[in-house]
Amino acid sequence: MNIVGVDLGGTYVKIGLVDSKNGKILKKSSIETKVELGGQEVVKRIANAILELTEGTDYHAVGIGSPGSIDKENGIVRFSPNFPDWHNFPLGSLLSELLGKNVYVENDANSFALGEKWFGAGIGKNHIVALTLGTGVGGGVISHGTLITGSTGIGAELGHVIINPNGPLCGCGNYGCLESYASATAIVRMATERKKKFPDSIIFKNEKVTAKAVFDAARDGDRLALMLRDEVVEALAIGITGFVHIFNPEVVIIGGGVSRAGDILFEPLRKRVNELVMPTFKDTFEIIQSPLVENAGILGAASIVLQREN
Ligand SMILES: [Zn+2]
Repeated sequence: MNIVGVDLGGTYVKIGLVDSKNGKILKKSSIETKVELGGQEVVKRIANAILELTEGTDYHAVGIGSPGSIDKENGIVRFSPNFPDWHNFPLGSLLSELLGKNVYVENDANSFALGEKWFGAGIGKNHIVALTLGTGVGGGVISHGTLITGSTGIGAELGHVIINPNGPLCGCGNYGCLESYASATAIVRMATERKKKFPDSIIFKNEKVTAKAVFDAARDGDRLALMLRDEVVEALAIGITGFVHIFNPEVVIIGGGVSRAGDILFEPLRKRVNELVMPTFKDTFEIIQSPLVENAGILGAASIVLQREN
């Protein structure tokens, strides 16, 4: 069975035709979102892109991973920081009308967790904590095989767990959230703040400071970069230790751009979480880098269909 997965971002929409048996992406395309054209027009553009992509092939249904607060029963985007004009926007039904197929909508961090369960590091597992470290920090939790979303569907905001009440201001208005330490945005901010003190750090070799530059520099033994890496690891370790104590997961899967740092991030992180968890939790879980890489969005979106229909 083929499924269309739509990874709806603020700048780009990535669309893939996915073989649900093995998670193989048969075809994919990408269009600009063009939020400024308004919701109706964005949906039309997505529908056209799907029609183009699936020309000559049948598909079963569409899954959309969207940022923001989602009413998943009705496929409605309640609000989304990426789409400021969308208030209770009926994304699912509008697209469904244009395509004549079932359309399922889910929050993008939750769909990342589902993608890992169906096609990634969570295959065969029923207890998964998933974190995406990108512009922000997204979270998704699967417990007993079910996505945990809470009473109004907005739960598992793992990125806004407060790690340090005296920490940096977070985009949500609180201080010291996990997101304010472990997102790409936070890493760039922390590096930039220390430029005066460490002007010779190789992080600043290029004009534009990026999270990737920080981890590359850490790999080369740069002092500031290693300090920043340690701060990111400590915040993540405190957060993950809490998630392990609450959810007792089999795996903690970390994706998003920052996860591509690889061992320089994951090795000290595993060690630190292992120090922090209660003895009974030791060796009950693994911390794994998402294997889905740039296809995580599309595969996650396709998984929404599988999860809802199973
Ligand atoms: Zn926050």
